[in-house]
Amino acid sequence: MSTAKLTVDLAALAENWRALDAQSGCETGAVVKANGYGLGVEKVSQALAHAGARQFFVATAEEGAKVRQALGPGPGVSVFSGHMEDDTALIRNQDLIPMLNSVDQMLRHMESLPSGRFGIQLDTGMNRLGMEPAEWAALRDIALAQKPVLLMSHLACADEPDHPMNRQQLRSFIELTANNNVPRSLAATGGILLGRDYHFDLTRAGVGLYGGLPFADARPVVSLDLPVIQTRDLAEGETVGYGNTWAAPRPSRIATVAAGYADGLHRALGSGGIAVFSGDTACPVVGRVSMDLITVDITDLPSDPGTLEILGRHQSVDTLADAADTIGYEILTSLGGRYQREYVA
Ligand SMILES: *Cc1c(COP(=O)(O)O)cnc(C)c1O
Repeated sequence: MSTAKLTVDLAALAENWRALDAQSGCETGAVVKANGYGLGVEKVSQALAHAGARQFFVATAEEGAKVRQALGPGPGVSVFSGHMEDDTALIRNQDLIPMLNSVDQMLRHMESLPSGRFGIQLDTGMNRLGMEPAEWAALRDIALAQKPVLLMSHLACADEPDHPMNRQQLRSFIELTANNNVPRSLAATGGILLGRDYHFDLTRAGVGLYGGLPFADARPVVSLDLPVIQTRDLAEGETVGYGNTWAAPRPSRIATVAAGYADGLHRALGSGGIAVFSGDTACPVVGRVSMDLITVDITDLPSDPGTLEILGRHQSVDTLADAADTIGYEILTSLGGRYQREYVA
């Protein structure tokens, strides 16, 4: 078979949730937007619920419906984008909790679902989503009278612990949310690692669950094995791939593996000095990454491998991200639909 195999370690995922949960004295939620960071929202949500997560977060109401279908009634499913036009039926039928971002969303929610649960997202300086301080000042008493279930905001620089923006947003969040009994949430993965001041009542762990930075102690969750389709010998000076970007500096043996940029393995990896692994031996990727194929220098292996590992024990999503000049989040969420996916518990 020439389909690469993506293995998702659900036990490692659960362990990462427990490890992040152990760092706080409050409840630890799970962010499963973008199809569970690309790993499969149904399996990921079920494994996290089994580990003990009771609060789930997604970007859109449609994603929320998928999580509700996977989990059944009970766990909270909150939607960061709030209550958009046309979301009302989904929010009601799937029992979702919109995080309202504006006066418009607030009015829409009050009119269409007057007894429906909601939270409020406040902007503490990121200027992306949430009510501005002035908007909140005008709305605050009316909104609090409707008993929101959560007041939340999001940190812009939490992956840089010494960044002054963290303290500034913390101060702003405390000011905006003082003197009421509504549960509060400020921290995603980075915020959890900043310490207890940032935790409040509920954290929203995302990328760390899936093995990505800034949670450096995370257990790897994904491994990706690429089948070798063909091998060949090259004389010194022969070239490999589009544009002849690599020429053999010595007589070489080249393996062609089945996966490429259409599978989320960015074209930039071809010049990023990345390796793939046969057991513990690193084999350099050479030449350009094609749509469906990657070429690898296996000259130093004692025999031809059946598969080569590009993600796993030896190489994390963040190593690939560095080589492609991006972040682990993007590597995860780009992992393509063509892989054979296997879930191990
Ligand atoms: C994506 C997101 C999270 C999770 O962030 P991670 O850095 O992946 O832990 C939490 N809160 C909000 C508002 C988000 O958009």
